[in-house]
Amino acid sequence: MKIKRADILSRTLTGRCPNCGHFGIFKNWFRLHKSCPQCAMELEKEESGFYFGTTSIGYVLAIVLVIIPVCILVVLNMLNVWLGVSIAIIGSTLLCTLLYPIMLCWVLMLYYTVQADELPQNLSDTAHDEAR
Ligand SMILES: [Zn+2]
Repeated sequence: MKIKRADILSRTLTGRCPNCGHFGIFKNWFRLHKSCPQCAMELEKEESGFYFGTTSIGYVLAIVLVIIPVCILVVLNMLNVWLGVSIAIIGSTLLCTLLYPIMLCWVLMLYYTVQADELPQNLSDTAHDEAR
């Protein structure tokens, strides 16, 4: 394969196109471009639950980083219950909003490291592999 999984990993984690390494795959904070402005590779995978995956990572992060610590503080009587609930709600919302582009990168990273041969630059080699 032309593009190794390590390349895909470093590219997607720095917010670049996994196929050509072009920086600028984000349309805005919450959305990717439909396809890469440089190599026209399809970036959005809406039909395969792309954004759903991102939101799920957000929930897990919010539970682990915000809700569980707040619960522990409430149980230890170090935090008032209603203050805890407010912190949990505001904290999880902020966390998901601020980390959304990073989580999108993670989903891109997971998707293309697993299916590295789906990249346009690797497709020609896939045919070659199957012939072997
Ligand atoms: Zn590209």
